[in-house]
Amino acid sequence: MQTLKDKLRNPVFRTVSDIVTAQGRQAFVIGGFVRDLLLGRPSKDIDIVVVGSGIELAREVAAKMGGTHLSVFKNFGTAMLRVRDVEVEFVGARRESYSHNSRKPIVEDGTLEEDQNRRDFTINALALSLNRDSFGELIDPFGGVADLQARLIRTPLDPALTFSDDPLRMLRAIRFATQLDFVIEDRTLAGIEAVRDRIGIISMERVCDETNKMMMAARPSMGFKLLDKTGLLPIIFPEIAALKGVERVNGRGHKDNFYHTLEVLDAVAAASDDLWLRWAALLHDVGKPRTKKYVEKQGWTFHNHNFVGEKMVQGIFKRLKLPLNEKMKFVQKMVGLHMRPIVLSEDTVTDSAVRRLLFEAGDDIDALMTLCEADITSKNEEKVQRFLRNFRIVRRKLREIEEKDHIRNFQPPITGEMIMETFGIPPSREVGELKAQIKDAILDGVIHNDYDEAYAFMMQRAAAMGLEPKTTSDHADQ
Ligand code: ATP
Ligand code: MG
Repeated sequence: MQTLKDKLRNPVFRTVSDIVTAQGRQAFVIGGFVRDLLLGRPSKDIDIVVVGSGIELAREVAAKMGGTHLSVFKNFGTAMLRVRDVEVEFVGARRESYSHNSRKPIVEDGTLEEDQNRRDFTINALALSLNRDSFGELIDPFGGVADLQARLIRTPLDPALTFSDDPLRMLRAIRFATQLDFVIEDRTLAGIEAVRDRIGIISMERVCDETNKMMMAARPSMGFKLLDKTGLLPIIFPEIAALKGVERVNGRGHKDNFYHTLEVLDAVAAASDDLWLRWAALLHDVGKPRTKKYVEKQGWTFHNHNFVGEKMVQGIFKRLKLPLNEKMKFVQKMVGLHMRPIVLSEDTVTDSAVRRLLFEAGDDIDALMTLCEADITSKNEEKVQRFLRNFRIVRRKLREIEEKDHIRNFQPPITGEMIMETFGIPPSREVGELKAQIKDAILDGVIHNDYDEAYAFMMQRAAAMGLEPKTTSDHADQ
């Protein structure tokens, strides 16, 4: 019998052991914690299952340990104990049965074996005994350890039934495969395909939780390929599914934007831990299907796909129940701007173009550059090298100009109020016009980002527009 007793270091395990052994009850640590222990992965939360009442056991453990914080969820029959950084969840062993139109099971008290039967995957059904005479012994009814070694995701019972009972498990399978770099066993994969339409009863919040976990994996592309393969992709992400495929006219095809997007996503994931930059990578070309056009001589074009994509972001975020806050604005901005550095680097890189880019991207300029570098996925190595070389020039210029002109969080030195006050005019087209001219002069390098220069420039432009400064006697009249 394999034992992992030396690895059960958290003091909560011994405390539970003492309590249940004295009472002649049985408790086990189960699920993700055991899986991650065997994989050598860090894990934050611990699940403890007891034959009997989880809440009762949690109360006893809390009373004995001190320095913990207990929350009880009576409706669920669970309790959570926070021990330092770790959340320990206590639950009674249960048996579950499902009705067809809900993922809410009918729950009854059960044995450890019944509790293991309701688990989603063999690798998630592993348990370690906490009883004194068998402390740390592994209980593995479905060959979970072998599957860990073979790197397989497999359901303990019939896959189609398992997934139909709780369709969220389909996304969990794909998410675990992606996070752990595992393969979904063939029958299990076929089970997902067979009941994929059942995903419809899962709330978008849950879909999104799983997707975000998938997005944070080292290679998120794996998850999207599995969503595609199982037919889930068009159901939950129709806009991403629409990127798939290559159309041909006169023998000329365009690149498959689904696979291109996935390459960009993985490249961004390799460079950044930012979930929202990863979302921006996933959505950067989402406007392409709607803007695709075949033009004689030019071939395939996707004019303004960045702006169309930027406009699509809000609808997608709304449907997916993603936050409609500054995170979304960031993704919109990245999608909208993602063509800029590349266009810039195709031309001679002028100071004025760099200043404008800095002005629009602000503090997100580094994120934008990361996205754009990831976006270079040509098969033509020479082309890739040329782009990357040009990007280095763009990055150097960005640094130089930022040091000199501080454009990044640029606020024009002359405000609309100052213009109205100086010329004694109400809010009007002239005010907007003057403001825009001052901003352009700074971004084009005609004047520096400096109050005196901007003031002199304003006086000169205003004179040309026939505006005269308010005199002091005007003041006296009022
Ligand atoms: P992670 O915490 O990394 O998401 P985990 O495996 O710990 O992974 P949890 O959601 O914390 O996942 O669930 C803990 C355990 O509960 C799982 O290991 C599994 O045994 C069981 N479980 C969770 N969700 C389901 C489900 N939808 N169907 C069946 N069993 C589940
Ligand atoms: Mg967990």
